[in-house]
Amino acid sequence: MTRSVLFVGAGPGDRRLITVRGREVLEAADLVLYAGSLVSSDLLDWCRDDCRRVDSASLDLEAQVNLMAEAVEAGEKVVRLHTGDPSLYGAIAEQIALLRERAIDVALIPGVSSFQAAAARLGIEYTIPGGTQTVICSRRKGRTSVPDGESLDRLASIGSTLVLFLSSGQVRAVVDDLLAGGRDGTTPAACVYRATWPDERIVRTSLSDLPRAMEEASIVNHALIIVGDCLIAPGGRSRLYDGAFSHGFRRGGSPS
Ligand code: SAH
Repeated sequence: MTRSVLFVGAGPGDRRLITVRGREVLEAADLVLYAGSLVSSDLLDWCRDDCRRVDSASLDLEAQVNLMAEAVEAGEKVVRLHTGDPSLYGAIAEQIALLRERAIDVALIPGVSSFQAAAARLGIEYTIPGGTQTVICSRRKGRTSVPDGESLDRLASIGSTLVLFLSSGQVRAVVDDLLAGGRDGTTPAACVYRATWPDERIVRTSLSDLPRAMEEASIVNHALIIVGDCLIAPGGRSRLYDGAFSHGFRRGGSPS
């Protein structure tokens, strides 16, 4: 028997957006530890009736690790369910370190991150043919610090698509930082609240107008801020489908 905890990405909300592998391990689990405020309880319907489902909200880190470790040591199949993809703002590193101290291994099953779900709901591509080829996922500093080199004004100066997690509660400061970093107030901006949940809300506007538009839509938390020209329908065409461009599946008219 493997002594391991499976960290599983739950996806952004809609339970159909978990991976097949993620669903399989939920169906087999003896214990599922999940963050009740962020993970849809619909997902837990896939668990067996006798599976223990524990909301992590009331447990501190040590208590969570103890719970998982004791279950693994008793031979149970343990799943730690994280919203979106566990690799982004999942605070899994500290759990993994404490589990390994107890000689318990971990395996990770990826999930659809909310930033991917937001692009789908906005109907956009973050990278722009002929334009930015970079997406920056970041956050504004809050109670959690952010290294100086990653301050929003510095990231803004690159001119790429920006996707900001955990920052919608300080949207005015976000906009000030991005303007200070050289982004124009007319740059397209959007906010996606609870992407793929039944109460999803989407705001599309300009960077300068974003605080007002979010206030009007009563969006504070559980939302992503997206900024960049990717939000306007691009006129450019991807080189992948350009007749003059060769790639693995099709020979183009001229070498590039
Ligand atoms: N691991 C997660 C992020 C966890 S941090 C992921 O990959 O998506 C929590 C933050 O993620 C929230 O404050 C919000 O900024 C964002 N978030 C998570 N789910 C969301 C959703 N369905 N819609 C919009 N933003 C979401």
